[in-house]
Amino acid sequence: MKKQGHIHLIVGPMFAGKSDELISEYNAKISSKELGLTQDNLLVVKPLLDSRDNQIKSRTGKELEAAKVSTALDIKALLNENIKELFIDEFQFFKKDVADLVKELKKDGLSITLAGLDHDFRKMHFSRYKDLIDDADKLTHLLATCHTCGQVAKYSRKEVNGKPAGKKSNTIEIELKDGAVQYFAACSKCYK
Ligand SMILES: [Zn+2]
Repeated sequence: MKKQGHIHLIVGPMFAGKSDELISEYNAKISSKELGLTQDNLLVVKPLLDSRDNQIKSRTGKELEAAKVSTALDIKALLNENIKELFIDEFQFFKKDVADLVKELKKDGLSITLAGLDHDFRKMHFSRYKDLIDDADKLTHLLATCHTCGQVAKYSRKEVNGKPAGKKSNTIEIELKDGAVQYFAACSKCYK
């Protein structure tokens, strides 16, 4: 019988440790004697968008080499018969073609672990989360600490030049080094 594929979604707000969890999952797979996987069996990708470097970096300082891709075709070009597991960071930044590919690969027997935001800064679900949640076999929902009150935070807030971003502000804009665009984790009470 053909091996069943598997989709694991790791979601939560900004500052919830999603990339850290993705890297831990990767390390757990590599060190599992039972699975018998090597680096050649695992492919790690991240969106082209944010990056000058070829690593996924967690806020706790963990790092993992990742190929930068922008479309499903880019991912397909990196797949080969040795690849058994695919890891995708910041999956909310991709277009629908990548969600479709993930579902296809699951049917082909691959295990795919994806980390990313479930809600945008307007508290709306990202489209890729909506595309994949019904097909997810495992969901790890992480929470952050509210930057305002220290309680458990489920949402991300966005500020542009120190003021709350308007509803029409770009939902996939990344934090800028100059501090003009900043994100904060927020609990339901402090989210404004
Ligand atoms: Zn709060």
